[in-house]
Amino acid sequence: MMLTDTKRNGMPKIAAVLGATGSVGRQALDVARHADIRVDLLSANRDAAGMEALAREFLPTYCVMADEAAAKDLRLRLADTEVCVLGGASDLTESIAMSKAETVVNAVLGAAGLAPTLATIDAGKRLALSNKESLVVAGELVMGRAREKKTEIIPVDSEHSAIFQSLQAGRASEVRNLWLTASGGPFFGKSRAELASVTLQQTLAHPTWKMGAKITVDSADMMNKGFEVIEAVHLFGVKPSQVRVVVHRESIIHSAVEYIDGAVIAEMSLPDMRMCVQYAMSYPERASGVCAPLDLATMGELHFAAPDSENFPLLPLAYRAVLAGGALPAVLNAANEVAVAAFLSEKLSFLGIGELVGETVEKLSFSQNEHTLEGILNYDTEARREAAALLSKNKG
Ligand code: NDP
Repeated sequence: MMLTDTKRNGMPKIAAVLGATGSVGRQALDVARHADIRVDLLSANRDAAGMEALAREFLPTYCVMADEAAAKDLRLRLADTEVCVLGGASDLTESIAMSKAETVVNAVLGAAGLAPTLATIDAGKRLALSNKESLVVAGELVMGRAREKKTEIIPVDSEHSAIFQSLQAGRASEVRNLWLTASGGPFFGKSRAELASVTLQQTLAHPTWKMGAKITVDSADMMNKGFEVIEAVHLFGVKPSQVRVVVHRESIIHSAVEYIDGAVIAEMSLPDMRMCVQYAMSYPERASGVCAPLDLATMGELHFAAPDSENFPLLPLAYRAVLAGGALPAVLNAANEVAVAAFLSEKLSFLGIGELVGETVEKLSFSQNEHTLEGILNYDTEARREAAALLSKNKG
């Protein structure tokens, strides 16, 4: 009797992993190892040493470093291999088109993920999308381009993966609300006065997920949940008012869909991004994975609470940005990238992040009238300049 090998169910033969040296990128490579997927393209920004190790293991056709100096370094490191090392943003988009990958996992950090998202769509490859900023910055354009090119975008973000899976229980016209769960991060329940003195170390200690530094900070001040609201609006074509946020401390229910008959269909599993990456690759099939099973009998209790919008104002600000539309969500994201980088290098306090983002959004609120890609990218640059200027003014 031949045993069926379920670990390859629905899996692509060849894939690309962008942002390969990061938290999600490394977990995507774990999925590739487990399912014997050939990795044809790897990308990162500056971590040439990390990339060298990955390239020696996976022997991809292309390795792209966004940073040109890092590409030079990597070229020397891999001189004894056949790997083609490229450098810069345009080389990344070209290598996506040239690669034989059927699925591209985009786990690049920040707005830099937008160009590879568009290149993947244009190349007609399945996009397993972890880079939420692509949809925050230019959600309408990205989704419009995917419809035009008939390219599949399958979410990797755990909440959106859960919603994507739960949506299979009904029709789009039968959806009343989407419920996005939020762990609440390390500071849930804290007052503004308490938040004023939190440290970088405390902020990076997420209670349930182990993630890259930037998204860990975004989770602590609820900006990440705000970005996910925007991401959900675009991915699933719902109104902002249909995306409801609920704090769920245990991160077991990853999100849910509420239907018009009152049924709420949720996806539950242990918090492990590898499951989300794997499903984005195997959909519509399911493969036996690398993740530990969830034992409901030992779960005990699950808790839910309303989010605290007063002490965590970045969540309501994200609703405001997506309602206004245009380039305002891009401004929100760009200002946040500047603010979080300053916080991570201890040049800004935790509460300073929200203040800087709020001030930048106020200054550029007229950007809501811009709808072209070029115009949105100009506002991204403008918002970074404005946020940096405010940062140095507030310090001075
Ligand atoms: P990390 O910071 O851990 O990794 C980011 C990756 O992107 C690295 O490979 C980094 O390269 C690369 N990168 C950074 N800047 C650039 C750039 N300018 N151009 C090209 N590549 C770049 O991030 P995460 O893995 O935590 O997050 C990645 C994305 O996934 C984000 O959009 C995040 O919101 C989303 N996400 C993450 C989750 C998680 O569990 N971590 C969960 C859900 C979504 P280098 O190492 O060289 O700097």
